[in-house]
Amino acid sequence: MTAMDAGMVIIGAGECGGRAALALREHGYDGPISLIGEEAHLPYERPPLSKEAIVGADVPVAKTILTAERVADAGIEFIGSSRAVAIDRAAKNVRLADGRALAYDKLLLATGAVPRRLSLAVAGPRVAYLRTFDDALAIRARLTPGSRVVIVGGGFIGLELAASARKRGAAVTVLEAQPRILMRGVPADIAATVHALHADNGVEIACGEGIAAIRDDGDVRIRLANERVIEADLVVIGIGAAPVTALAESAGLAIDNGIAVDGRLRTSDAHIFAAGDCCSFPLAIYGGRRVRLEAWRNAQEQGALAARNMLGAELEHTAVPWFWSDQYEFSLQIAGLAEGASSAVRRDLGGGAFILFHLAADGQLLSASGIGPGNAVARDIRLAEMLIARQARPDPSELTSSDVKLKKLLAA
Ligand code: NAP
Repeated sequence: MTAMDAGMVIIGAGECGGRAALALREHGYDGPISLIGEEAHLPYERPPLSKEAIVGADVPVAKTILTAERVADAGIEFIGSSRAVAIDRAAKNVRLADGRALAYDKLLLATGAVPRRLSLAVAGPRVAYLRTFDDALAIRARLTPGSRVVIVGGGFIGLELAASARKRGAAVTVLEAQPRILMRGVPADIAATVHALHADNGVEIACGEGIAAIRDDGDVRIRLANERVIEADLVVIGIGAAPVTALAESAGLAIDNGIAVDGRLRTSDAHIFAAGDCCSFPLAIYGGRRVRLEAWRNAQEQGALAARNMLGAELEHTAVPWFWSDQYEFSLQIAGLAEGASSAVRRDLGGGAFILFHLAADGQLLSASGIGPGNAVARDIRLAEMLIARQARPDPSELTSSDVKLKKLLAA
């Protein structure tokens, strides 16, 4: 810290912001750190919200990334239940809704994403969204054995929640507008496996369904475009998320499918960084294509990387995107991004587990998507991730042959 150092301010106290605050201290920063969050909770893990928080026998507690003791020990000022309303870039300060102004030397925007709203439905106790721990508690309270749950959206939230609701004994219907579930980012064969898994567990999945109206008169009535009416005790809407960019936009920062940052996570203002779900960044392994990721590991990695760059390191974000989803006893994992692929090959691992590899026209391995019971695909996906990071051009026939270990391809 220099004598003139106004300190580090982080807006957003989720996975990304929490990790960034810790990383600043871990990398030797000893000046003031303020971490601003809209929720009252200290930073906590979101992945359990659609899983353990719903199915666990006991009412859950938030799985915190930063405990109160750790925050105190690290000398981080956590400002919860608070909203940043303006950034004055010339004066280098952030104004909070309560009128306070916080000066910064470097600012990190880790504002995340918010659920896309379904304009047809007014949120209330029986029409819910899932993003926060408090949302999960409210949904859990309504998921009693025999309750009728309709989930709008066959994406990650919808399907993980469907599996959890079944485990709690609810009757579940998933309505997806697209012709199939997991349309974005998940190959059709894997989506078909997930679909079958849900069907085997008694979930009704209806694809290509438009919703005409949702009425809540005690019971919720959902009228589909085909005139079918479904009655429910609870409707959960999981139709995607939108990056939170309003603050950055009103401060005049460049926006491009999220807050636009460079490979070092710096915005169009050299003193302001952005990381996690809220930002789009160029990814060198895909020729510098700009992407925005909504993913737990990305939020974690970018939070830590942004912190180091706020301290003057000049590190590029080079990590291969990675996603995972657990539903019933199956786990789905995806490394890399399949956009731009011209072919796909399949590797069967036995026991119902398989991996699809997507390759570019020039043979570059772009992504690997796997599904199987337990952690059946974890090892090969990890190896595929390393191949993707190297921009390798493996022989497709070796990728498909279970006699050829992927480790051998790495050594090539
Ligand atoms: P999502 O994975 O993008 O899926 C939303 C799905 O709902 C899409 O298939 C979408 O289709 C569909 N949809 C959109 N409008 C609809 C409508 N009117 N009626 C029916 N279906 C509709 O998003 P999500 O499941 O809501 O998840 C929200 C956020 O939580 C994301 O950031 C996600 O990554 C994160 N999350 C991640 C995990 C994980 O990685 N395991 C788990 C839970 C949550 P279109 O593609 O046409 O929009």
